Amino acid sequence: MIYDTIVGVATAVGYSAINVVRLSGVDAIELSSRVFKGKNLLLADSHTVHYGFFRYGDETIDEVMATVFRAPKSFTTEDVVEFSTHGGPYIAQRIVTAFLAIGARLAEPGEFTRRAYLNGRIDLTQAESIMDLINAKTATQLALAHGSLSGTVRAAVESMQAELLDIIAAIEVHIDYPEYDDAEVVTNAIVISKVELLHAKIREAIERSVSGRIIRDGIKTVIVGKPNVGKSSLLNSLLKEDKAIVTEISGTTRDLVEGELRLGGLLLKLIDTAGIRETTDLVEKIGIERTKKALSEADLVLLVLDSSKHLTPEDEILISLTEPKNRIIVGNKVDLGGLLHVLEETIVPVSAKTGIGIERLEQAVRDKFLGVGYNPSEQALFGNVRHIGKLEEASAALSDVLLAANAGEPIDMVEIDLKRAWHALGEITGDVATDDLVTALFAKFCLGK
Ligand code: GDP
Repeated sequence: MIYDTIVGVATAVGYSAINVVRLSGVDAIELSSRVFKGKNLLLADSHTVHYGFFRYGDETIDEVMATVFRAPKSFTTEDVVEFSTHGGPYIAQRIVTAFLAIGARLAEPGEFTRRAYLNGRIDLTQAESIMDLINAKTATQLALAHGSLSGTVRAAVESMQAELLDIIAAIEVHIDYPEYDDAEVVTNAIVISKVELLHAKIREAIERSVSGRIIRDGIKTVIVGKPNVGKSSLLNSLLKEDKAIVTEISGTTRDLVEGELRLGGLLLKLIDTAGIRETTDLVEKIGIERTKKALSEADLVLLVLDSSKHLTPEDEILISLTEPKNRIIVGNKVDLGGLLHVLEETIVPVSAKTGIGIERLEQAVRDKFLGVGYNPSEQALFGNVRHIGKLEEASAALSDVLLAANAGEPIDMVEIDLKRAWHALGEITGDVATDDLVTALFAKFCLGK
């Protein structure tokens, strides 16, 4: 398919050393050659860089480097030209408007990546992993996104689809040519034995993906404890390990998430950390309701107790409130001695003041979410919520297959649910994606990507 020529600034808006303005489409090289004074780009080989000036009308707008990629060996598979310019936003804007004036169109968010998808160079999982790469904040997130970009998710899904297709094809032959002797007689028993295996495989992928989701989206974490046990100090101590990453992102996740921090390769999204400062009397003043609300949102609760003192009734309330949650009990102030005993549960001893035990706390979080001895390259395959949702759909359809087959339903009825599972898997890679899905997905990209 031949598309028109789009233009966009590929770098972030603002002042920087360089900006990159990118064109892609059937006229990309021709339009570039009209404004580039230097080598004639019409004659330039693919994958070559040229020094020159960007001239529009009588005006020299910038001294630039032009990189030429000829179809099909480019990001979009179309002719692509990238101009590296000096980094001012005004220059970028002038270059883009010059291209608009001579016939290019402004790219929509994600449109370059969308073309790579529409032109068949990458599938949906790879397009999504490009976004995950850009948004990665930890080494583990990066590794997961790289895996998916290299096609591991696609390969896994395609192999599941291939298994389903074998079963479906055998059923079709059986239905269409019942008299054909060589056609394998497909009975419910055969379907059951094959589908059970595949169903187990998909369930396992979903189980593993839970840690994938945690790596990708972060762990919503709440720190609770009665006044003066050292919640703020603990927070500061954790943040000190990694000051750079703390970001104010309130508003983006409905107010509750106040900051992020990296801990042992995982991303913790702290819920209501400002609340910790402002509500030192969490239990009395703000009340149990607010604590419960924060707890209900949390994937992880760090319950802070004072290990130099005996438990108080307030501690007891918090211990029972957090009981049903995925919690780690932190015994702070170990530098003052250890009087504390809590039930059977392990307490991670730390001193927010001296930094003792912070590494053990990190390890405890890792063990809890990734399992002991976790190796991301081996395990985390599916890290994307949309993919996991589709795997769940496929799994549900296969459960229906097993129900129907076990109940002795006619084989063509069983086949309907097999096809449903196949379709759900196809939506992961985009083989059977609807236009609405594609539009919604690419709208999440930033401009120029
Ligand atoms: P919060 O009310 O739970 O947020 O508690 P803070 O972090 O404000 O700490 C209360 C007091 O305990 C402060 O005076 C801290 O200096 C002190 N504190 C916090 N952590 C430790 C610790 O690990 N050891 C000691 N000795 N003091 C601590």
